[in-house]
Amino acid sequence: MTCATETFDAVVMGGGPAGSSTAIALANRGWRVAMVEKAVFPRRKVCGEFLSATSVPVLDRLGIGTDWRGAAGPEVRRLALFSGRQVVEASMPAREGFGRALGRDVLDLRLVAEALRRGVALFQPARVVAHRRDGEAASIDIVSDAGERTLRAHVVVAAHGSWETGKLASQLPRQHDAHDFLGFKAHFHGASLSADMMPLLAFPGGYGGIVWADGERLSLSCCIRRDALAAIRRCRPGLSASDALHGHLVDSSIGIARTIGDATLAGPWLAAGPIRPGLRAGYGDDIFRVGNVAGEAHPIIAEGISMAVQSGWLLAEALGSAPPGNAEVRAAIGRRYEAAWRRQFALRIRAAGVFAALAIRPSTACVAGGLIAAVPPILTLGAALSGKAKPLPAFG
Ligand SMILES: Cc1cc2nc3c(=O)[nH]c(=O)nc-3n(C[C@H](O)[C@H](O)[C@H](O)COP(=O)(O)OP(=O)(O)OC[C@H]3O[C@@H](n4cnc5c(N)ncnc54)[C@H](O)[C@@H]3O)c2cc1C
Repeated sequence: MTCATETFDAVVMGGGPAGSSTAIALANRGWRVAMVEKAVFPRRKVCGEFLSATSVPVLDRLGIGTDWRGAAGPEVRRLALFSGRQVVEASMPAREGFGRALGRDVLDLRLVAEALRRGVALFQPARVVAHRRDGEAASIDIVSDAGERTLRAHVVVAAHGSWETGKLASQLPRQHDAHDFLGFKAHFHGASLSADMMPLLAFPGGYGGIVWADGERLSLSCCIRRDALAAIRRCRPGLSASDALHGHLVDSSIGIARTIGDATLAGPWLAAGPIRPGLRAGYGDDIFRVGNVAGEAHPIIAEGISMAVQSGWLLAEALGSAPPGNAEVRAAIGRRYEAAWRRQFALRIRAAGVFAALAIRPSTACVAGGLIAAVPPILTLGAALSGKAKPLPAFG
């Protein structure tokens, strides 16, 4: 069944943090915005759930800062490195306040609710399946249980993340390689960790992080190379991938064992990926890109949600108060947005790649751990290089 076409100033494809932030920021400027999200919320997601303090002012401008403060877990004032027998602590670089973690089941739902409150037309659950330019407007085909419909808009924003492949020009090509990193995440109850501490995990074949989130849930998330996971599973025959990984984590680090050794899982492990780290384009094929579509840092630095909400804000700033009606103007705005995006995020993406490479090999992780043990502020410096002290220019 095909329904009538509806016309908007902008259609945002994807309702994660990047999509909702863009939709809210544009709606606040008076745009008529539609947002399409394929999943039913609330839903859990493979993510460490930590949001840096630099992004809290953005949440304030989007209208959910107070809500976020009321719900998120404790302030993270200290960092740590858990690697083998090493447990090293350092302080978190602070500009204005400290970051905290809020479950993605809660955060994403609240952002979407705010978008609705601001008048965004929400299509959920509905999947974007095709996009084409005809004349100065674009047609976006979406599919839901109710059937198919087409949305029309001058501005199209890709905020669908980097995991799903498909026919959209903004979707990444399928990838399957031994060196891929797969993402895992679990919540725990009854874990043993100081409330204000966020340890970075370095273990053979992977890296991760632990933080207290809302509702006294401990959030543990990690990435492991596909070939390393296969090797771990061969050593633990009969176990599922997540059970084998769970055992590997506890066996590989005294710090992890102390933290979750006596804890109980709050829900099943989630798995996703492969992750697609790298710098991509902020604009191409007449589609603006935000969040993971535009570029992705290895989550060892826990900056992806920040990059998502900040890129949504940057794009809305670049687009301004009126939808650009012709392709040349959109391309010029795209170039300006892309330059601002790179100034804000390129360094942290490169730094995260180096940190990830160091963390996954026991030899380099041990040397890095020794250095950090001797000079703990190196960890603080690493966090600063990861963007944890870099607000958006307008918020500095
Ligand atoms: C193991 C791990 C740990 C992490 N830890 C942290 C952390 O602690 N802190 C942090 O800041 N970042 C972390 N990240 C990164 C963070 O999760 C991502 O960078 C962030 O989710 C990106 O947001 P996004 O909105 O771009 O994409 P997503 O969150 O992926 O949202 C995309 C949305 O689009 C929807 N969608 C996809 N395709 C379609 C379609 N065709 N039609 C309609 N809807 C569609 C999806 O359902 C989804 O809701 C972590 C990542 C991993 C893998």
